[in-house]
Amino acid sequence: MGSFLHRVGARVPHAVVCIVGTHADLCEERELEEKCLDIHRQIALQEKHDAEGLSRLAQVVDEALARDFELSSASPHAAYYGVSDKNLRRRKAHFQYLLNHRLQILSPSGKLLYFEDSPALKEHVFHNLTRLIDILNVFFQRDASLLLHKLLLETSGESEGEGESSPVMSLPTQSQDLLWATQLHHYVEGFLLHGLLPAHVIRFLLKPHIQAQQDLQLLLELLEKMGLCYCLNKPKGKPLNGSTAWYKFPCYVQNEVPHAEAWINGTNLAGQSFVAEQLQIEYSFPFTFPPGLFARYSVQINSHVVHRSDGKFQIFAYRGKVPVVVSYRPAKGVLQPDTLSIASHASLPNIWTAWQAITPLVEELNVLLQEWPGLHYTMHILCSKCLKRGSPNPHAFSGELLSQPRPEGVAEIICPKNGSERVNVALAYPPMPTVISPCSKKNVGEKHRNQ
Ligand SMILES: [Zn+2]
Repeated sequence: MGSFLHRVGARVPHAVVCIVGTHADLCEERELEEKCLDIHRQIALQEKHDAEGLSRLAQVVDEALARDFELSSASPHAAYYGVSDKNLRRRKAHFQYLLNHRLQILSPSGKLLYFEDSPALKEHVFHNLTRLIDILNVFFQRDASLLLHKLLLETSGESEGEGESSPVMSLPTQSQDLLWATQLHHYVEGFLLHGLLPAHVIRFLLKPHIQAQQDLQLLLELLEKMGLCYCLNKPKGKPLNGSTAWYKFPCYVQNEVPHAEAWINGTNLAGQSFVAEQLQIEYSFPFTFPPGLFARYSVQINSHVVHRSDGKFQIFAYRGKVPVVVSYRPAKGVLQPDTLSIASHASLPNIWTAWQAITPLVEELNVLLQEWPGLHYTMHILCSKCLKRGSPNPHAFSGELLSQPRPEGVAEIICPKNGSERVNVALAYPPMPTVISPCSKKNVGEKHRNQ
């Protein structure tokens, strides 16, 4: 219940939550009242606890604001070391927003889904959201036998009609059916283990929702747009001609780390004997991690990377020739919250290539996180020197530095760990400040309009 409320609050800061019982209770009138009061009490306690935590965090920003900037730039031990007043004030405003939001009544209104920024989807308005949810639910059926049953049902009488698998044609019907069932079984297995499905199998799964051939294309575009899957072999921006399109659903990937083959050129990022400098941006989510964020982010970055290999918690890929690793680490208790990090490496003179590799991914994540306006998270740049040393607890510079220009006349900043080590500014500040709150087309395009 507690984490559920955190999630609702993070996504829709003004939502009203209505508790609905699903089982008959055998409570006395009095007990009922007690239980209701207890629920309210627990919610109030959690809110109080959260508010105290946020107030403490806001206070740290206040203290940083009270310090002279010159002075604070000279004290690497202080929180928000090197962060500009402008960024501090923005941070403060966000904490204030998180503190002020109260649960309110959400007016019951119909919703339309419309994607202005997608060339393939902008001609369409999705008005029947219940049907849309039915469509999405098709891909959240995790029971292998049910999936197989559905496929067999939808394809009965179609397998022969497919024509593609000509060797099958010469076999008697019974073994044909058997072969077809085996094939479908493999598809289902591949889907549930690796999140892989070819377009023609998706067509069978969506059959009740498809009337015309272009409906399938439209639905596939919609699934991609909603961050459920990406097309593995579609050339960027072009439709696929002839060959079978394969789709990857990251939320189904089961192998914990990506297959090692994908990393042949990639020198081990966590390796000790490593000459290159490492860049790592870490996002930390102390209260709640948006459900499905890693899978959605995985789809979102697809247009930026090549030669990718997906694991359940990690993606290895390249931006051009520069390797990038995106990792998710689920929380281990209160002291170690959920983290999501984006990393790359390069030699110091070429460190700009590593920045160029990770910056679009950072910006893409920032855009995605705007869908959770009530979410509290922090962002840090891990110290390259500490990472290189293989420190289990690398120093974290404030992520605000990413949106600031490199300080003039300063070549190095100080890492307070390991006896005030000096770190080249090029390892903490990107060559160009990143966009923080991008009013990007992507973001304004997705509109939920009242009917
Ligand atoms: Zn360090």
